[in-house]
Amino acid sequence: TRRPAANSVVRPDFKFEDLGIGGLDTEFSDIFRRAFASRIVPPGLAQKMGIQHVRGILLYGPPGTGKTLIARQIGKMLNAREPKVINGPEVLNKYVGQSEENIRKLFADAEKEQKEKGDESGLHIIIFDELDAVCKQRGSGAGGGTGVGDSVVNQLLSKLDGVEQLNNILLIGMTNRKDMIDEALLRSGRLEVHMEISLPDEHGRQQILKIHTTVMRQNGKLAPDVDLAQLAHQTRNFSGAELSGLVRSASSFALQRYIKGGTVAALADNVAEMQLHMSDFLRALE
Ligand code: ATP
Repeated sequence: TRRPAANSVVRPDFKFEDLGIGGLDTEFSDIFRRAFASRIVPPGLAQKMGIQHVRGILLYGPPGTGKTLIARQIGKMLNAREPKVINGPEVLNKYVGQSEENIRKLFADAEKEQKEKGDESGLHIIIFDELDAVCKQRGSGAGGGTGVGDSVVNQLLSKLDGVEQLNNILLIGMTNRKDMIDEALLRSGRLEVHMEISLPDEHGRQQILKIHTTVMRQNGKLAPDVDLAQLAHQTRNFSGAELSGLVRSASSFALQRYIKGGTVAALADNVAEMQLHMSDFLRALE
């Protein structure tokens, strides 16, 4: 029997709805088509067809729009192990002098497994948040002119271009400033698929609110007067992170109504009765 290589197979039971990402259906299916469709092809066949998997993608857009969420969920969809997460400013501050070594280490597990298992290797995902921080903008050195940023970028490039093609690596770069990203990193064979993740529209906002109130709804904690469509209408320019903040804030207003005098035990009984009403959301909005 043929054992499909984990690094080349999208989970067969994959469903977009399970990912808990609101309002990004188009973006997600676009990334899928451009970056992962090749991973549906069984490895042996992929080799025969000369298919080379995309090894790097760049997600860019305003803060709190779900870039990290998408990056992590891509890992789940592709059945990859827990992603390694690294953050630009952290690399520059914490690892001065040994930044190259740290980048090398990021890739070491994947290289080792590729050597040992070839196409049978699992997929290794590296999430590089705030990638702009290590990129040198023409003229001004990142990392306070220490050249640390340069060496990080060079090390990334050499890993992505390596003599031995790493089929089991997916580097996901993230930034709020695409214009700051070193162009060399964005070329073909490197972070070659670029996807803008922008603020959600009204429909997206409603989906996100729905996702973040799912558990409450399932447990009868959401009063029937809560109108997510209206809230979505009233939250223009909110990011996903801000919508999730809105739900948290509404919960805390609801909670306040149930915290009355008496013993702690009585309090717990009260709180068990708690329900969120539209008025809690409207207060939170204010
Ligand atoms: P940053 O650029 O600041 O790193 P980001 O784009 O990576 O932001 P996330 O960290 O993915 O944003 O979003 C923060 C939180 O906001 C998520 O963990 C999630 O709870 C919520 N969120 C953001 N966007 C969405 C979305 N589209 N659907 C559901 N939840 C979302």
